[in-house]
Amino acid sequence: MTNETRRILLVEDEKAIRDAVTAYLERENYWVTAVGDGQDALEEFQKHHFDLVILDLMLPRVPGERVCRVIRDTSDVPIIMLTAKGEVEDRIIGLELGADDYLVKPFSPRELVARVKARLRRARAGAAAPSSDVLHAGAVEVDLRAHKATLLGEPLQLTPKEFAILSILAASAGSPVSARDLFEGAWGERYDDAAANTVMVHIRHLRQKMAAIDSSAQFIETAWGVGYKLRDGLGAGAPGGHGA
Ligand code: CA
Repeated sequence: MTNETRRILLVEDEKAIRDAVTAYLERENYWVTAVGDGQDALEEFQKHHFDLVILDLMLPRVPGERVCRVIRDTSDVPIIMLTAKGEVEDRIIGLELGADDYLVKPFSPRELVARVKARLRRARAGAAAPSSDVLHAGAVEVDLRAHKATLLGEPLQLTPKEFAILSILAASAGSPVSARDLFEGAWGERYDDAAANTVMVHIRHLRQKMAAIDSSAQFIETAWGVGYKLRDGLGAGAPGGHGA
């Protein structure tokens, strides 16, 4: 990465979070414009060029959802959404609002900074690609429009259901998804005991296909009692990341 300064628009109405995130980002030499409501966010966005937007969902004056849509109408700038648990379904954030990534509060500022770095790297690498149709989660990339998935850049040959499961996992990058949500999302049917088994079998097949590309890691992790999640590729060598 170069030392050129990247500009970040931070939109967060909770002052404590705004200040903490600003401090972390500035320590990494980003140029941060921090605002506390959606109206100010849109005004700043029109006035200046930003390389990335961090956007809280629940905001005074203009809600984050609307800010996200307005920005998306004119720009492919990476958007990382901040949400509180249960505010909005994971898939809606990625697929309908057009955000590239999201973090559920409470999050660690360090994790946010890691996501920011990853997003900026990606934006630089594939400036032409429309970001909202492609989900990234760790080593996995899912292109929803082309209906293609890759692991570590290698194509995965998936059945439609496996593709649907991987898409749902990728859309909630880093957060576990319950077997129920996976089943209802991929099959659109009511969840029962047989469904739990169906999900398990499909996860096993997915894991086998992923292991055929790289068997050194478990890319779909089991979150005991919660569900399944995609391994966060950022985590492996990076210090810390959790806590706070
Ligand atoms: Ca808020």
